[in-house]
Amino acid sequence: MSKQLIDRQEQGKIIAKMNDSVKRISDTAYTVSSQSGNGSYHVNATDIGWSCSCPDHVYRGVKCIHVYAVEISFALRKEVEIRKIEPVQINCCIFCKSTYIVKDGLRHNKYGKLQKYNCRDCNHYFTINLGFERMRAIPQIITSALQPYFTGESFRNVQKFLKLQGVSINHNIPSTDG
Ligand SMILES: [Zn+2]
Ligand SMILES: [Zn+2]
Repeated sequence: MSKQLIDRQEQGKIIAKMNDSVKRISDTAYTVSSQSGNGSYHVNATDIGWSCSCPDHVYRGVKCIHVYAVEISFALRKEVEIRKIEPVQINCCIFCKSTYIVKDGLRHNKYGKLQKYNCRDCNHYFTINLGFERMRAIPQIITSALQPYFTGESFRNVQKFLKLQGVSINHNIPSTDG
């Protein structure tokens, strides 16, 4: 890689991390604030990759810092999406599928509360992590996924960044009425 190219990549990384700089419109459309403070550029997905409305890209045909910034934002968003945990719905026994189940106390682990159930049909016990039940994403997992990009950033900053990328995270592990 040429030095210039590395510079643009590094600058793109810096821009991607700056609050309010990269804004996701959709999976194929982003806006990136101009570093000179004059409005923003449009970055759109095309058949041959991202295209940007800035002069660097339009006239000089280079992979500009805005495209780098969008690439990073896009990758982070995908990363978070992969790690999202779907809500757990428990209305039947995980062994025999009977709906005759009763709650049998709470246990705890490092991710939060575990609800213990007892099936009155097959008499099996099983536990469901209540922390996962209502969370759209798990902060610990997300922050570790983003660690390489956000070293030293507060979780709130990361959250703010992700919100602009269209990802919402609950800040607290929800309490339950177990
Ligand atoms: Zn550009
Ligand atoms: Zn059962």
